[in-house]
Amino acid sequence: MSEALTSFQEYLKKMNYYRRVISLLDWDMYTQTPRKGYEGMADAFSYFSTEYFTLATSRELEDLLDKLSRQEEFDQLSPVMSYTVRTMKRDMERDKRIPKDFFTALVDAQSASRQAWQDAKQAADFSLFAPHLEKMIEMTAKKCAYTDPGREVYEVLLDQYEEGMDSATIDRIFEELKEGLLPLVSQILAAPQPDSDRFRGPHNCNAQKEVQDLLLRYIGFSHDAGVTGESEHPFTMGFSNGDVRITNHFREDDAISAMFSAIHEGGHAIFEQNVSPDCQGTPAEDCCYMGIHESQSRFYENILGRNKNFWIPVYPKIQKLLPAFQDITLEDFYQEINHVQNSFIRTDADEVTYCLHIILRYEIEKAIFRDHVPVSGLPALWNQKMQEYLHITPSNDAEGILQDMHWSAGDFGYFPSYLLGSIYDGMFLNALEEELGSVDKLLANGEILSITRWLKENIHQYGSLRLPKEVIASVCHKELSAKPLLDYFRKKYTEVYHL
Ligand code: ZN
Repeated sequence: MSEALTSFQEYLKKMNYYRRVISLLDWDMYTQTPRKGYEGMADAFSYFSTEYFTLATSRELEDLLDKLSRQEEFDQLSPVMSYTVRTMKRDMERDKRIPKDFFTALVDAQSASRQAWQDAKQAADFSLFAPHLEKMIEMTAKKCAYTDPGREVYEVLLDQYEEGMDSATIDRIFEELKEGLLPLVSQILAAPQPDSDRFRGPHNCNAQKEVQDLLLRYIGFSHDAGVTGESEHPFTMGFSNGDVRITNHFREDDAISAMFSAIHEGGHAIFEQNVSPDCQGTPAEDCCYMGIHESQSRFYENILGRNKNFWIPVYPKIQKLLPAFQDITLEDFYQEINHVQNSFIRTDADEVTYCLHIILRYEIEKAIFRDHVPVSGLPALWNQKMQEYLHITPSNDAEGILQDMHWSAGDFGYFPSYLLGSIYDGMFLNALEEELGSVDKLLANGEILSITRWLKENIHQYGSLRLPKEVIASVCHKELSAKPLLDYFRKKYTEVYHL
């Protein structure tokens, strides 16, 4: 091993130690930190983030990356190391253009904005959050102008979460989906609906946690390489493939929501646990393409979790843990978990109308960064689009524009990845069935782990090494299209709703 490579690997280790501290603080702020302790924790978070930024933009690192980028050195690198050197060099060139003062101000503004969003959501008062949102939009645009001068802001943002994806492609496949979905949703809503009141519980929250553990184990989550916690909004945070953490939110009146959050976050976590150990300690170990990441959580949640056969091996065990389900048949449970309705909250939406929730957010983000619609006009725009796509109007901003935390942290351009994930899933489902046969049969036979193995083999193990379009090409051998997802919806809901 060359001297430069040895020094580089030592340097990576040091960066990893900082990343762990930053992630731990982040985890703690979301799951444990009391209100009065938040500011102190946020200060520490800001300090370590700035230190990390200094490490990631140092002269020493720049020299090492330059040395390793020379042809004769670069040719000797393993695939993981060549990915690492190439992407770190690119990111460094981008980051170096961000003034340090601006970076610190951005991290501070993000912490304040996240707190303000929580308060605003609690009070259902958009005006408390509006000045922070304005600042996040302005700083995000400024950051893009530093990192990618001359490029359109929203394209930079999309590329940041799903490299190689542009708004022209997203426009094409989202339109294709919207055209197919609006009539399908109308048809479904005209059919008789299941009675959701039967599912309101109360369901003991500790028993729900046992259900979560059971479901996680069933789909292949390793409890030796992960833990679970609680937070207002469920999320996954990976420290390494040996330590992937997920959270959930438990409510006595809705056990189904927590079950599906567990399966969703479990899907993210299984992905990270399954990344090849060769990628450990490098940027490749954590898949940085959010559409691909979401495709895996949503594959477990929707394609598998909302299939009746998924529940055949586990439903009796759930009935034992949650007695209120004892007089609910599997068939009735299946109808309820595929209950399509026009609702306000994205995270509680069924898999069909969910797509419209995302298209709405995508269109609003384009309105912010392209049409420069002022922040004060966004709640009205939100409500107008809700009416247009879902025919309902939120009674307040907490169930409207304030419901998601993404924008409070400056995560603009992230929402489309959720739907790209579902669109990829339609394609992955076809590819998986071509190789392994019917998913219905595998699930009914309790062979879900063979599906997890297939996903590991074809997708998970590579982490970030392959770009989204390379994943689609190598797994599906086809052009990206929303048609497989639409076909899946049409076939499934024609049967569920006897259309
Ligand atoms: Zn997710």
